[in-house]
Amino acid sequence: MLIKPSGICKFCNSSSLHEFQAQERMLGLGGKFIYQECRNCGSLQLSNIPKDLSTYYPKDYYSFSPLVKSSPLKNLIKKVRMKLFLSGVAGLAPSYGYWLNRLEPNLKDKIADVGCGNGQLIYELHVGGFKNLHGFDPFAEGDAMLAENCYLWKKELSEADYSFDIIMMHHSFEHMSDPKQVLTDCYNHLNPGGKLLVRTPISDAKVFQEEMELWVQLDAPRHLVIPSIKGFRSVAEEIGFDLKEVVFDSEAFQFLGTELYKKGYPLSPENLDKYFTPEEQMEYKEKALLYNEKGLGDQVCFYLVKKD
Ligand SMILES: [Zn+2]
Repeated sequence: MLIKPSGICKFCNSSSLHEFQAQERMLGLGGKFIYQECRNCGSLQLSNIPKDLSTYYPKDYYSFSPLVKSSPLKNLIKKVRMKLFLSGVAGLAPSYGYWLNRLEPNLKDKIADVGCGNGQLIYELHVGGFKNLHGFDPFAEGDAMLAENCYLWKKELSEADYSFDIIMMHHSFEHMSDPKQVLTDCYNHLNPGGKLLVRTPISDAKVFQEEMELWVQLDAPRHLVIPSIKGFRSVAEEIGFDLKEVVFDSEAFQFLGTELYKKGYPLSPENLDKYFTPEEQMEYKEKALLYNEKGLGDQVCFYLVKKD
């Protein structure tokens, strides 16, 4: 007998869901995790969220490695490069320049990074000359001033009693269970006309459509929700955002990681180098660029604006 899954889609409110099963594969822990896929918008949500998710985050999880501070000389070079980059000089982009550019930031903008891990990104922006930076992560070790006007807060954005010109989330959105609440908190903490950038995997990904639970960015059970573009637009517009632009920025990782899982191996940099030649890795890199051009890649940047 088929039992109809209970619940509603966290993105479009549809109750037409179907379920499939996935395992923890990054560490090779296995388990039985049930994802619900919305038949209306295609978004994914984990229905049996473990009570203690910390079991699934290894101690050396990348976002909690120690902050790396560069030398004063290197900082000076980074600052000059950022100034030139923001004024439109090509060829000097930092690795994250492609998404920063589209936010059209001002160095004085008050910027929040939600789910900032150790705060490395806001530190880099500080070095680049930005003057009002706040990282939020309830799993940080504690509050810290990383540099002048660059703060790491061990709390949720919702606990902040001030608002921002720009809020960004870099692959933290999918780790939070309530997308509507997360986006509402962002909305409430943006100044009128403020900008929100959400970078996240999406369920429209060709790799997911083809490989289902072997898709590396399903990442059970750490990824609690994965929107489709349709689902994300639906919840964002309901809250009062304008979804201005969707830019694909998927990488070779979508193929390399998924291939590893198909072979039955856990994910590690050693395994990537062991099972793929540099030529194969390069081919996948080019394939990712092609997927991004065609809108088939497995992650995007959502650019939103809070309507005045
Ligand atoms: Zn839906």
